[in-house]
Amino acid sequence: MDTQTASTLLEQIQSPQGREILDPATGELVGRTPQTSPAELNDAVARAHTAQTTWAAQSHDQRSQTLHAAADAIEAHAEELAVLLSREQGKPLNGPNARFEVGACAAWLRTAASIPVEPEVLLDDETGHAELHYRPLGVVGAIGPWNWPMMISIWQIAPSLRMGNTVVIKPSEYTPLSVLALVHVLNTALPADVLIAVPGDGSLGKALTEHPDIAKIMFTGSVTTGKAIIKTAADTMKRMTMELGGNDAGIVLDDADPKAIAEDLFWGAFINTGQTCAALKRLYVPDSIYDEVCQALTEVAAKMPMGIGLEEHNVLGPLQNAKQREIVARLVDAATDSGARVLIGADPDDAAPGFFYPTTLVADIDPQNPLVTEEQFGPALPIIRYTSLDQAIAWANGLEVGLGSSVWSSDPKRAAEVAARMEAGTTWINKHGAIDPRVPFGGAKQSGFGLEFGLQGLKEVAQPHVISS
Ligand code: NAD
Repeated sequence: MDTQTASTLLEQIQSPQGREILDPATGELVGRTPQTSPAELNDAVARAHTAQTTWAAQSHDQRSQTLHAAADAIEAHAEELAVLLSREQGKPLNGPNARFEVGACAAWLRTAASIPVEPEVLLDDETGHAELHYRPLGVVGAIGPWNWPMMISIWQIAPSLRMGNTVVIKPSEYTPLSVLALVHVLNTALPADVLIAVPGDGSLGKALTEHPDIAKIMFTGSVTTGKAIIKTAADTMKRMTMELGGNDAGIVLDDADPKAIAEDLFWGAFINTGQTCAALKRLYVPDSIYDEVCQALTEVAAKMPMGIGLEEHNVLGPLQNAKQREIVARLVDAATDSGARVLIGADPDDAAPGFFYPTTLVADIDPQNPLVTEEQFGPALPIIRYTSLDQAIAWANGLEVGLGSSVWSSDPKRAAEVAARMEAGTTWINKHGAIDPRVPFGGAKQSGFGLEFGLQGLKEVAQPHVISS
């Protein structure tokens, strides 16, 4: 185990007098996070503002080369970063978890560095010539959550830097060390002050969204905080990308093969122990294959080990914090109190250390039960029985959020027809949550606005500028 090297990186980023960060699996001390004062925030924004002019003056090729060097640095420190991430966030090293997340950071950075961005010719005839250019915006303020702290930071940092902006990033107060370590590693390849991390809580995030020298806010987090930021940032007319909460529906069609889809359904729902914005949170299954799907999912769930992240065999971990564990427990209790049937899980061991909650599948649940209609953001999946596909689609679309969704079928044409009726930023077919750095991702309805990834994602962190003659 590489805990020794992880401590070396930790020593460089933590503050001896800082706030304690505890391991959510064991309660042990991981490290101490520095806290940014309002004066230090102002200083960080001023430095990023000064550095932006020189960074923006570089060509796309120059910036791309630097970003590839930053990806090399991540790869060189991959195991140290993964160990720290596992200890602070709780996610296991193995499975689609800590090592996967660090690998994704390098992959996203390289893709953002590699996509060509050319001026677009809008008009070129006897009436005139018009071109659309994409200029840097200035300093981007990035604010993130605790579930995928490194990867989501890279989603904000990589396109912003590529397009000639500098970045001041405020990590979640639950997982600051992971982001500080990532930024430290990136900064071994980046020019000074192009990327600055400012650890702190929501009040520091608010100060960032009010700051007159921040041109754009990239926010990933809850709907409630997103709404607060939109109000605060309105005064300075900041550009915004809002990646907010979801409560993703999946609809299984009656021609699906339960055994064949069970493992992909499982990981669609339980990736990162369910603490994923675009994870499958509500599964609608037709009466004709309901029992088979429940059975197949239960068999998969039963064989997935949950435990301390640094133990190599585990693929599921604890909830990251006590508050999130309480939300999951409250919603599962509400479901069982209402008479829903627990297929596996529930019944947590409250005396055991760590914020563990067992992998939980709940069947025969009312479609309006809170476990179905609220984002529980943890390792519980309600499975709702349906007889009419139109009714299932109406239930799936019946919430105010719409981040991801999925349709599961052996018939591609039928699946595509149902997918077209889903109200969400993305609808996957026979998979769920399968994001790709080349494919834009964003929310519908109250799950937010603006796109990340791909060329569209790069354009979102740029000022469109028409030159017309
Ligand atoms: P949160 O909204 O509580 O906090 C997110 C960040 O906002 C934190 O860094 C926090 O300090 C900061 N913050 C809090 N109040 C603020 C304010 N007034 N002004 C500015 N910043 C403020 O969210 P969370 O609990 O950390 O994350 C979980 C939520 O994030 C879930 O709802 C999940 O669905 C969502 N999420 C969405 C995506 C996506 O891509 N759409 C990805 C991951 C998580």
